[in-house]
Amino acid sequence: MKTSEIISAWRKILRGERPALSVEITRECPLQCPGCYAYDDAHLGGGITLRSLNDRKGRELIDGVLDLVDRLKPLHLSIVGGDPLVRYRELEEMIPRLLDKGIHVQVVTSAFRPLASGWAALPRLNVVVSIDGLQPEHDVRRAPATYDRILRNIAGQNITIHCTVTGQMMKRPGYLKEFLEFWTPRREIRKVWFSLFTPQKGDQLPEMLQPHERARAIADMMALRTEFPKLDMPEGMIRQFAAPPRSPQQCVFALTTQTISADLKTRIVPCQFGGDPDCSSCGCVASMGLAAIAEHKLGGFIPVGAIFRASVKIGQARAKSATRTPSPEEPLRVLS
Ligand code: SF4
Ligand code: SF4
Repeated sequence: MKTSEIISAWRKILRGERPALSVEITRECPLQCPGCYAYDDAHLGGGITLRSLNDRKGRELIDGVLDLVDRLKPLHLSIVGGDPLVRYRELEEMIPRLLDKGIHVQVVTSAFRPLASGWAALPRLNVVVSIDGLQPEHDVRRAPATYDRILRNIAGQNITIHCTVTGQMMKRPGYLKEFLEFWTPRREIRKVWFSLFTPQKGDQLPEMLQPHERARAIADMMALRTEFPKLDMPEGMIRQFAAPPRSPQQCVFALTTQTISADLKTRIVPCQFGGDPDCSSCGCVASMGLAAIAEHKLGGFIPVGAIFRASVKIGQARAKSATRTPSPEEPLRVLS
């Protein structure tokens, strides 16, 4: 991120706005992955579910997403689902128009169908393909988006692999290394991210990591990041997995990202997981990345997190008392 983009994000926070937006553009997905939070009954807070929402298609979807972006003016847009590639025709038209607005766009998909051939060359577009472990486990969990199909569908692309580490994977020593040995030599793979499975409060699922499995996943990632440069996870980010935010109010990611579901109206709170997530077991790579930035000390002694929390308070107070636009000097006043 450029300094000018950081200042723009900061100004949005001071206005009580969120610099990042995540949109579930469809309620549909051809997969039925165990542990999927999007189709959990509590995802949208109970009462309604993702599958019961009225989602949009065709021109209505394209115009709806573009309008949303014009209204909320995010600096970063994440397009998720369901699986966004269910609406591949709309995406192929929408993405260049979103990029023309100067924002960063991320598409998160299972790659169950081919990605558009032009996407590899688009600046500020990051396509993230979710892989649930090594082929034998992945193919059972994520058919029809099997390894063979994904490898065909990402040919010639420039993608990020995202793997959510589960308790099952951590029961086998060396699993993460084998995963990186398979994916990182491939030309289509720009980088790899690991998250750890994040449960809802009260869940008892085999995907959940026991404390010793979490500790080993952290130690493995620390060791593997030097051996596999495509594992794009700085030490400071990996360290955050050991001490996740205590609540959504402490989570920089939740405070800076607005998540909207497939009717382009329903808000998902407190973060992209919806429901009542167990922050103490959070393993979201985006949350850890922002927590690492918050821990950084400007000039060696002012924690970015302190400035951030002060800015959020100012923004929230200003949003309540509806508002004036902060001057360009305002970030510096907060800092001082
Ligand atoms: S691909 Fe994603 S949205 Fe679809 S079932 Fe799997 S985890 Fe859920
Ligand atoms: S579950 Fe994770 S991403 Fe969601 S609010 Fe809690 S700490 Fe943040």
